[in-house]
Amino acid sequence: MKSNNQPSTATQNRIELEITGMTCESCAAHVVQALNELEGVEAAHIPGWHSGRATVTAGTAVSDEALAEAVEQAGYEAAVATHRTVTVSQPPTRNGDNADYDLIVIGTGGGGMAAVIKAAELGYRAAIIEGGTIGGTCVNIGCIPSKTLVRAAEAYHKATHHGFRGIRTRAEGVEWPALMQHKDELVAELRQSKYIDVLAAYGDNVTLIRGWARLKTDQEVILDDDRVFRANKIVVATGAHPNSLSLSGIEAVEVLNSTTAMTLKKQPESLLVIGGRAVALELGQTFARLGTQVTILQRSPRLIPDHEPEIAEEVAEVLREEGVTIHTGVTPQGITEENGHKVVTVEINGEKREFRAEQVLMATGRRPNTQELGLAEVGVELDERSFIKVNDRMETTNSNIYAVGDVTNRPEFVYVAAAAGGIAATNALTDEGKSLNLNILPEVIFTDPQIAKVGLTEAEAAAKGYHLKVSTLPLEYVPRALAARDIRGLIKLVAERGSDRLLGAHVLTAEGGEIIQTAALAVKFGLQHGFTVENLREMLFPYLTQVEGLKLAAQTFEKDVAQLSCCAG
Ligand SMILES: Cc1cc2nc3c(=O)[nH]c(=O)nc-3n(C[C@H](O)[C@H](O)[C@H](O)COP(=O)(O)OP(=O)(O)OC[C@H]3O[C@@H](n4cnc5c(N)ncnc54)[C@H](O)[C@@H]3O)c2cc1C
Repeated sequence: MKSNNQPSTATQNRIELEITGMTCESCAAHVVQALNELEGVEAAHIPGWHSGRATVTAGTAVSDEALAEAVEQAGYEAAVATHRTVTVSQPPTRNGDNADYDLIVIGTGGGGMAAVIKAAELGYRAAIIEGGTIGGTCVNIGCIPSKTLVRAAEAYHKATHHGFRGIRTRAEGVEWPALMQHKDELVAELRQSKYIDVLAAYGDNVTLIRGWARLKTDQEVILDDDRVFRANKIVVATGAHPNSLSLSGIEAVEVLNSTTAMTLKKQPESLLVIGGRAVALELGQTFARLGTQVTILQRSPRLIPDHEPEIAEEVAEVLREEGVTIHTGVTPQGITEENGHKVVTVEINGEKREFRAEQVLMATGRRPNTQELGLAEVGVELDERSFIKVNDRMETTNSNIYAVGDVTNRPEFVYVAAAAGGIAATNALTDEGKSLNLNILPEVIFTDPQIAKVGLTEAEAAAKGYHLKVSTLPLEYVPRALAARDIRGLIKLVAERGSDRLLGAHVLTAEGGEIIQTAALAVKFGLQHGFTVENLREMLFPYLTQVEGLKLAAQTFEKDVAQLSCCAG
């Protein structure tokens, strides 16, 4: 064990490999992944496939031959260009005795990265442990691949269907492998630049350790190769994985989840989507726009049940117009495979029905990665759905252990995970006592038009006892929407009578995600500084912008919008 406040030293190999056979960033990503998966490799980096070079930092037990073989097994060739053995000194830990690190973070997703970076910025020595692919869900299998596919499908749809008053562009049909390759390239680029390179930039203050971790005690982590690391505090940021319904027959049928749907080698002709929230709608619309026959089976009586009913209805209308079939109030029961098609049996309003398709996408939420972590043994409590219970300071029920991101009972968004990560590290290492405030949480579902909300829905505000006023503005009154020939959607504002504060904003508009942050500021400053709907009405909004719809919706509380002249005057 290293003693506190003394720099410690370690010996490392720094190897440069010449790689042949790489033709794109995906190739570089494959090589990096193959090297990173080799036991003893601490970090592998390719500055771009054109360079034809990989640099590897590894323990002294890793041989040059093993590195070359790992690259060969990935389908490329490698020759050792340089090999240096160096002694590196690590900064001392600042807190506690006999610790390898001040802070150990488990998981390199958005939550874990924010935690380890904050620890380094505060001047502490931290390590981050990753068992899977560096970067976690958002960059590899979540936000990034889904949003680039959504955008590609949007562009394709506009070119082939949307038309613009007689102007219609011809598209040649979707080249599925090219689409997947572009997506993979973007993922590889961003994983490298936003995760691998960022970790490397923190030098010796942040150590990346590869392996699957488990808590040995509340200050020790043991890896699957039995290495043990000790820290004063630990942050668990292990994320979540797709949930699958336990339908009868499910063991014998391969169904897709969000991860596998985005790596299909071939576009399916037909797709059943089980679920009716963000992932179901984003991927359902994307596949439909690319030419797959999509049917959505939603258990609740409507899509997106946490959103305003008017928005849910309008979204369903938009999707139906694009050829998506939607059934709500569906209870899926079983699944079988017949003649190369998957058959899902369901009950709808007491009636048994069967739906068949080439593929089935299970978009039924995510389950936390809390199994196998040894949490119960160290007194970290889980909630009834097995998410780690944390308070606003990201403290678990063990004072040495913090948790952040999708593994906790907090909303599953990467910006929430990242904010929580910084707070957890600060609280673990200092006595600042920071809290994560989720009172104003803007949310976006990236359908087209986008669904976005912040603050309370009308029903939530009513349940809290507010005396309400509500304004709903169809998009046909927003000049930007008229000029763009896309009037699908609406804006709904919920405000408190008397105080005139905005309590919630709900939009379904093209690029609705870009509008919602303005509404978030209005809600925040209403709650904290008395900013009113009248203040919003009085502000200048540029003409013609989509966000001008907020001002028009604010005016609609008092005026008939049909009687407004241009420029929201
Ligand atoms: C299809 C899809 C689309 C999404 N789109 C958006 C979006 O547009 N906007 C948005 O804000 N959010 C989006 N999300 C949600 C977002 O991706 C997550 O909220 C976020 O990535 C969670 O980050 P995290 O750090 O908590 O966990 P993760 O990113 O999941 O990271 C956890 C890491 O821990 C590692 N790990 C797990 N167990 C261990 C262990 N025992 N030892 C070592 N390592 C371990 C895992 O390998 C993983 O790398 C989307 C999610 C999905 C699935």
